[in-house]
Amino acid sequence: MFPAMAAPPVLFIATVGYVRSFGIRTLCAYCLGKREGAWPCHHAGQVDLTGMIDETPLASIERRLVCTACGAIGAVDARPDWSELSRADPRPNWMAASKRSDNANKGPALD
Ligand SMILES: [Zn+2]
Repeated sequence: MFPAMAAPPVLFIATVGYVRSFGIRTLCAYCLGKREGAWPCHHAGQVDLTGMIDETPLASIERRLVCTACGAIGAVDARPDWSELSRADPRPNWMAASKRSDNANKGPALD
């Protein structure tokens, strides 16, 4: 007798709509191709998601990207540009110097 089978794992597919749900509108794309001499390319760029439908999987975007540095097609790692979140909602810099004139509560500063 076989043991009871667990439920099959749920496959998560990241889509354009999923990225947009975080308020992110661009992808960071990193080339995984090779340059002359088999050196890694590491060229990076951004992909604007404007005009793309929400159901588009990120994997299908990666397959169609062409590196403008080495010419590799589909050898791209595309990820949400999470830095958009910090630009949209900048948090106060807790390490910044106090604005108080007496500096009584001024903590250590990183210089
Ligand atoms: Zn490249």
